[in-house]
Amino acid sequence: MSALTASALSTVGKAMTIHLFRFDLRLHDNQALTTSLNNARQTQTPFLPLYIFDPAQLSKQSPSRLKFLLESVSTLRTSLQNNLCIRIGDPVQIISEEFPEAAIFTQLEPCRDERKISQSLDATEIHGTYLYSPSDLPFPLSQMPDVFTPFRSKMEKSKSIDINFTTCNLDNVVILECDKGKIPELSELTSQPLPTFDSRSVLNFTGGEDKALERVNDYIFKQDNLKNYFNTRNGLIGATYSTKLSPWLALGCLSPRYVAKMVKKYEQERVENKSTYWLIFELLVRDFCRLFALKHGDKIFLLDGILGRRAHGGHQNSVKWSLDTGYANSKADSWKEGRTGYPFVDANMRELKATGFMSNRGRQNVASFLALDLNQDWRFGAEHFEEYLLDYDIYSNYVSWCMAAGMTGGRVNKFNVIKQAKDYDPEGEYVKLWCPELSSVPKEYIFEPWKMSKEKQQEYNCVVGRDYPERVVEMKVFKPRTDKPKKEKKMKEKYKGGFYKVVG
Ligand SMILES: Cc1cc2nc3c(=O)[nH]c(=O)nc-3n(C[C@H](O)[C@H](O)[C@H](O)COP(=O)(O)OP(=O)(O)OC[C@H]3O[C@@H](n4cnc5c(N)ncnc54)[C@H](O)[C@@H]3O)c2cc1C
Repeated sequence: MSALTASALSTVGKAMTIHLFRFDLRLHDNQALTTSLNNARQTQTPFLPLYIFDPAQLSKQSPSRLKFLLESVSTLRTSLQNNLCIRIGDPVQIISEEFPEAAIFTQLEPCRDERKISQSLDATEIHGTYLYSPSDLPFPLSQMPDVFTPFRSKMEKSKSIDINFTTCNLDNVVILECDKGKIPELSELTSQPLPTFDSRSVLNFTGGEDKALERVNDYIFKQDNLKNYFNTRNGLIGATYSTKLSPWLALGCLSPRYVAKMVKKYEQERVENKSTYWLIFELLVRDFCRLFALKHGDKIFLLDGILGRRAHGGHQNSVKWSLDTGYANSKADSWKEGRTGYPFVDANMRELKATGFMSNRGRQNVASFLALDLNQDWRFGAEHFEEYLLDYDIYSNYVSWCMAAGMTGGRVNKFNVIKQAKDYDPEGEYVKLWCPELSSVPKEYIFEPWKMSKEKQQEYNCVVGRDYPERVVEMKVFKPRTDKPKKEKKMKEKYKGGFYKVVG
């Protein structure tokens, strides 16, 4: 590895190769980085790995998210032997002004803001961070099923996951000499108080490729949790009920194919069972969200989702939305703050704000509650998740919300948050962890404190309206559809009655 100066090269056309890192902050299984490095080697142009902190994106993120990002970028810089160049500002402006002669390579990000940047820079975009690359789909993208199950069965039949990938290195490339810049301090990126660790957190998340690989090894091999994943994945408390890999996957510190490779190894060395299958299944749901976004583009950000005008009465999932933020005890703001009066919803919302994480079970319930019980514009929920989730990923988040609201057209799952709490937090342990004002309330009332008499409220130290909020709304419980009674009965059994189809 040696260095050349930018000024010496500015006269010879595409005189340098830049890899613009975005959501691919790793060296292992990084197809875009592999392509950039190959270009630099083949054209014998100097190479610059670049990361740009874009204020337009940073302003939407909580301090905990920013901390995780800084740790991830800093780890990447170390892995690249301090050659990662750092800038802060508008990527298009910075690259056009400082590196006008560069050939830019970057991972293709399906959504609008990222694509706009790539297109303005005339960048070469390369697919990455999938189990199955879009080029491996057994159908044209335009014919991809909009519902997961048919998508899954087509994918599983078509091709096995390619786990023969390499780890990039800087061998035989010349690094462009320029001011490499400094990684900003967290306090430079936010004016909000800096995050502190909450001991109730599921995990003490630290960003970076090394920590991601360590977590994979801990969860799968050291703690041997994978064999039980299928049975534990709907848990709510602690590090072991699910992998907690999502924050690293979201920033691309971890490749899903690396996880698949480790699952395969585990199957060969220890056990192959429903749990090992199910982790790959979940990673395929992640692929589905990314590909859905690639197929439908900006529609995933629209209130009517992919339904368009059909969402105004023409489709069975049509809903009249409202948004009532900004006044005292508004429904939407109560949801955000964990003050809805429904303990299971409130516990989850408080966990999110305090730690940047929420279980999948929790996310499904609070999303259903905001959209289908409170009838609020679902994008308000998606934006709140965007601010706080350490694993915020534009595709999984917006597609999951759009789906929860029924705006992807498939079956709507209206969650009965009381029934769900009884099934998944039978002792009320989770609710008490996040809503300590309910700590003396017995199991019988823990998910429905409004049912306590005035005397009982005094006795259990929890007066509704004083110690714990009144309900913002009386929850609607939809009756299952009766046109296919046998199927409904099966579904009710399968989901223990906590899972309803919306009617009418
Ligand atoms: C309304 C809503 C919003 C969501 N927003 C996000 C988001 O911004 N980022 C995000 O990564 N996930 C999101 N999810 C999906 C899911 O809740 C999380 O991926 C999961 O809880 C992360 O925990 P884990 O890593 O322990 O998951 P595990 O159960 O261990 O699963 C392993 C991996 O599979 C993927 N995965 C699992 N379930 C899903 C799913 N339903 N959809 C997509 N991928 C999945 C994730 O990458 C996850 O890390 C959302 C779900 C809902 C209902």
